Amino acid sequence: MGVRLRRWERITRPVDPETRAAYARRWEELPERSRTPAQTIGRHAVGCEGTHGVFPRCNFSCQPCYHSAEANRVRVDGAHTVAQVRDQMALTRKLRGPHGHAQLIGGEVSLLEPEDHAEVLAVMRSFGRNPMSMTHGDFDYDYLRRVCVDPGGRPRFGYVSFAGHFDTTMIGRAGARRPQRESELHGHRRAFCDMFTRLHDEYGIRSYLAHNMTVTPANAAQVPEVIGACRDMGFKMFSFQPAAHVGNTVRWKEDYHSLDPDAIWARIEEGAGSRLPWDVLEVGDTRCNRTAWGFYVGDRWHSLLDGDDERDLEARDDFFRYLGGVHFNAPPKLLAARLARVVAAHPSTVATGLGWLTRAVRRVGPAELARHRPEPMTFVMHRFMHADDVAAAWELMEKGERSGDPRIIETQERLAACSYAMAHPESGRLVPACVQHSVLDPEENRQLSQLLPLPTVRSTPPAAAQ
Ligand code: SF4
Repeated sequence: MGVRLRRWERITRPVDPETRAAYARRWEELPERSRTPAQTIGRHAVGCEGTHGVFPRCNFSCQPCYHSAEANRVRVDGAHTVAQVRDQMALTRKLRGPHGHAQLIGGEVSLLEPEDHAEVLAVMRSFGRNPMSMTHGDFDYDYLRRVCVDPGGRPRFGYVSFAGHFDTTMIGRAGARRPQRESELHGHRRAFCDMFTRLHDEYGIRSYLAHNMTVTPANAAQVPEVIGACRDMGFKMFSFQPAAHVGNTVRWKEDYHSLDPDAIWARIEEGAGSRLPWDVLEVGDTRCNRTAWGFYVGDRWHSLLDGDDERDLEARDDFFRYLGGVHFNAPPKLLAARLARVVAAHPSTVATGLGWLTRAVRRVGPAELARHRPEPMTFVMHRFMHADDVAAAWELMEKGERSGDPRIIETQERLAACSYAMAHPESGRLVPACVQHSVLDPEENRQLSQLLPLPTVRSTPPAAAQ
């Protein structure tokens, strides 16, 4: 009995001790300028994780593409993918604690055989990661079904998470090989979402879908139109990546230095039909990430927190103080027990929570809420950095030196606050994805192309050629 009670006491602790330790380390690592009251890293998040070197190849030829030219010389190999992902996740589990969000990213994930894709997702989950498969979305329902449902017709997962990348920088999509306007892709965006609706209808498997779009000078003006036309398709996140000079130089077609983050965010706000406050909750350095969490009620988007209301900001601070690190994806009974312990220790959390809820309902309007169900929607802008800057900054950081050049200082600060890490089991380190793509990818892919050479007779369509 004593053992069971001790175990119950341990698992119902609001925050796992390993999570707490990982948060403390993350906070310690953050540069001073990122330690703001709005910062989520080190308070309620460790940051996002991504895989690398596990299936570098892609059958599209996007312009730009942040993968190195060598990536397409590597054969997709399920056994290699599973083994590498296992090692990488073991390291993130060790350094980042028992829970995390990890992107299954290469190359193109749907080039994996469905069985291999499913096995990798299971491996990631076994390390406490919530995996998101990053794809161009150019696969059919049968592929999705075989990933998510076993040969006996039983769902492998109750819930899956996919990010579909759709935009006019992409070349090779069936039925839209070289799209000229974003609107030409709306049918493909809808078909992608519809596959997951069908998966739910037939097998009860729920999904979280994100929409990714690379923003270039050529398509920036179409951002509002993409959001407006695709808002109700089933995506729960719209994530925009202003293009950077990174990856395969042959694929750079415009000057990406001219992309202004404020101007792009204004386009996103125009599409959302609302101001999108990105400074009430921050993820790492805001020059890398802007995130606005909220929900639609009818046609209007509402922020989770009103940054102009002191009481909402106090509620945010209380959330970090008392609930930061609570794993909300836990089974309901366990979560209820953990929350009960928080309330028992800090009864003021009830009043704080009710106060926030009351204000939110007033803001939205009870009549509107009676007519429409709130639909969660997050808007994100993630700005990868230019490879030359990253290489210069990283070289100095590896020597423990700080640059005297303001542009490289900014790069160093952003790398130090990075919220998107990739694991290197051979060195026991996590590195920023910018460093992975700008510095490490070319040599890593060169070695992989020797380990996993392409078959002599090529079977991929010409669009994938470099
Ligand atoms: S350093 Fe690079 S990978 Fe990390 S958060 Fe900033 S832009 Fe993203």
